Amino acid sequence: MNSNEIKGLDLNKLKTLKDVNVEGKVVMLRTDYNVPIVDGNVINDFRIRKSLPTIRYLLENNVKRIIILSHLKNPKGYDKAFTLEPVKNKLQELLQTPVEFVDLEKLVGSSGKITLVENIRFWKEKENDSFLAKFLSEFADIYVFDAFSVAHRKHTTTWMLMEYLPTYAGFLVEEEINALSKIFQPEKPFLAIIGGAKISTKLNTIKALCKIADYVYVGGAMIFTIMKALGMKVGKSLIEPEMIETIKNEWNEIKDKIILPKDFIVAKNPEAEAILTDKIPDDSAAYDIGKKSIDELKELISKANFVVWNGPMGMFENERFENGTKELVKALEQSNAYRIVGGGETITALEAWSSIERFDHVSTGGGAMLKFIENPMLPGLVHLFKE
Ligand code: ADP
Ligand code: MG
Repeated sequence: MNSNEIKGLDLNKLKTLKDVNVEGKVVMLRTDYNVPIVDGNVINDFRIRKSLPTIRYLLENNVKRIIILSHLKNPKGYDKAFTLEPVKNKLQELLQTPVEFVDLEKLVGSSGKITLVENIRFWKEKENDSFLAKFLSEFADIYVFDAFSVAHRKHTTTWMLMEYLPTYAGFLVEEEINALSKIFQPEKPFLAIIGGAKISTKLNTIKALCKIADYVYVGGAMIFTIMKALGMKVGKSLIEPEMIETIKNEWNEIKDKIILPKDFIVAKNPEAEAILTDKIPDDSAAYDIGKKSIDELKELISKANFVVWNGPMGMFENERFENGTKELVKALEQSNAYRIVGGGETITALEAWSSIERFDHVSTGGGAMLKFIENPMLPGLVHLFKE
């Protein structure tokens, strides 16, 4: 078997920026600038910074022009509450060079060296629309796809536009694919740690991980639905009742690999007095994992050579329930394993108690990373491989 072929995805066949002469070309570039914005300011620029190597490479290699496309959140049509203008300001600051910012209709007649188009979801982005794709394609010679975190969607700029323009992976997509592919050829022991809010959004990923990891430690609110399905007491902890049947049906397939927390920090509500216990009382909810659980998790981490982590262990935004997640971050920081981390709140927690640079790979994709683990050939990646 070719060692570079991973679940139908042959890394040797990825079309990268190095496979094309970009000099003098107009390059359309898809980034994911869906970043948190408060009062018109970008408050976390991780994704913007991760797009800079591709942009700088294109400039250094004398492209004629770069036209950048991105979405921001989920607007219903044209709505300036979702404008990408704060992103333009941040991008200008990081690049130290002017960035033109235009509505799609004004792209005709624009001429900036770097142009950011207003939130593409103001138009028919989510419809995977061939008219919009064709319209966009007429402005450029090639298309560079660097929006890994939206690659699990089949939208106009993640699919249809690639039918109209020769398409290449940007450096961020290349980095994500190379790092995340290691999940399918991991060093052993391989420990996966999954937490967060909802089992419904992560069960398929957990199932996929159970096939390749040695241990799958599950924490966060999602365990209470599992515990409920297994007939254990969860008190008033968050559950998804509609998932209970599914978990009962799937449990046999995954139970050998799964490790559940053994004790919890519980309280009558998030503001009430919190106690450590291994039995959740009927009138309380569990908001964090307890000491025994943290010790077990640390022990697993110390033995692992490969770790994938997504999802906080508890309601870490409340400092009384931060300990499980905080201790996890600190243990991972110290570990010599190859560590991959991804997820919205997960990265917030990682940055609260450590820093991105201390990990081997921090994915820009939450949902996309989880979907990649289920099946790496994401819709947005299909066109990036040579026939
Ligand atoms: P990510 O975006 O990193 O994938 P999720 O969106 O799945 O993570 O979940 C993060 C949220 O889960 C956090 O806001 C956290 O407060 C919440 N959470 C975790 N454990 C609990 C719990 N025991 N009770 C309530 N909320 C929890
Ligand atoms: Mg989240």
